[in-house]
Amino acid sequence: MIADLNKKITEKWISLSALASGIAGLLILILCTFHSLKPSLWNLFLSFFLLTSGVILYAFHLYKGKLPGIKNNQLYTSPLTSRGWLAWILAFLLTVFYVLLYWYPQYLGLRESSNSGLIALFDPLSRFLKNQDASQWFVYGVLYTWAILIFGIKYIWKYRHSKYQIVRTISVMFFQFAFAFLLPELMLRLNLPYNDLKNMWPLNYYFFDGWRLNELLQAGNIGGWMLVWGILMVVLISPVLTYLYGKRWYCSWVCGCGGLAETAGDSFRQLSDKSISAWKIERYLVYSILVIVLIMTAGVLYSYFTGQETFLFIQTAALRSWYGFLIGAAFSGVIGVGFYPLMGSRVWCRFGCPMAALLGIQQKFFSRFRITTNGGQCISCGNCSTYCEMGIDVRAYAQRGQDIVRAACVGCGVCSEVCPRGVLRLENGSVDIFERAVKARNEE
Ligand code: SF4
Ligand code: SF4
Repeated sequence: MIADLNKKITEKWISLSALASGIAGLLILILCTFHSLKPSLWNLFLSFFLLTSGVILYAFHLYKGKLPGIKNNQLYTSPLTSRGWLAWILAFLLTVFYVLLYWYPQYLGLRESSNSGLIALFDPLSRFLKNQDASQWFVYGVLYTWAILIFGIKYIWKYRHSKYQIVRTISVMFFQFAFAFLLPELMLRLNLPYNDLKNMWPLNYYFFDGWRLNELLQAGNIGGWMLVWGILMVVLISPVLTYLYGKRWYCSWVCGCGGLAETAGDSFRQLSDKSISAWKIERYLVYSILVIVLIMTAGVLYSYFTGQETFLFIQTAALRSWYGFLIGAAFSGVIGVGFYPLMGSRVWCRFGCPMAALLGIQQKFFSRFRITTNGGQCISCGNCSTYCEMGIDVRAYAQRGQDIVRAACVGCGVCSEVCPRGVLRLENGSVDIFERAVKARNEE
């Protein structure tokens, strides 16, 4: 009895310390933004140290000594995970941050001569990496990478029983840190074009813009190689990998948007809308955006090679600029991440990402990837559907014993992880579970 009480008191202290540490780290960033604290390397270090300690302590409190895997406790009563007041506050803060980042970076301290506020806080790190003052994108890159790394550790701890989840999470952490953050910054230091080698068209919608093509072509052999690599990714590497493994090779193992959704967004995956109407909206929206990006890219290439400003009676520069504003910034950033606590973590991937749409078509019609279901074992608990971040009603397939071959599925594997009966299996072959069972019986 006393031992139980002591344990509860210790746990309470750990969770309070985690909260205090996280809030203190955040406070340093906020005070610097409002010029109430002097930006310095020390303050930057202290802020990240406190934020990191907060998340790690919180994870320690949540998972230490408990069974690994999903926790349903208080999922629909917590104000954070059930669209309560905490979720609304977080969504508001994230949205404000994104609006400032995209359209009003001067309020974050971006200056032509010498930065101030939040952005100046990151100047020492930026100078160390690339010999330049920080921009709002550098600040964003550091925060984004930090979030994937630290929440990735939390995620690995939660799913420590699953080799698939551990390896997949290490993969997104690596690609974000090395390919999306470090390499492009070092390229700038060497006066080479900024390039995230894994960020391919059409997600990277400016890859075929005139200014980008010129930048790459003027950068000599390395620029030419980057151009060829970008084209090869689209026409060869991606189709082959999607045929072999489904779109998960990109959406759940490599992509930064997917990486953030899987790690920092993990607490909100159950908020995805599973209704048929949401599925209909998803199909209209995501494929419309894919068509727009195809027309836009054809237009900018046409303008680049012919010098004409219109393509199919459309002003290519205007279309490009509207796409950047509405889809590239408002949808992918403000809604895509800002609305995590209200609409789930894959709103952008599901409703807006043209890359996911393109890979999804291939996954549906030309891929070996599928999720096989052993329907006889299903007890209809619904865990799989609840935690599918793409809003797929996995249970309906499981109840019918039907393979899941859906364009939207990003192959995160969480449905399979949370199934208490081992009904679901992510497979890359054409042999389904029944054929395997018959084979096994025959071999006995
Ligand atoms: S069906 Fe399963 S693997 Fe596919 S996205 Fe949903 S949870 Fe992830
Ligand atoms: S989690 Fe497993 S047992 Fe539960 S509904 Fe889904 S497939 Fe059936």
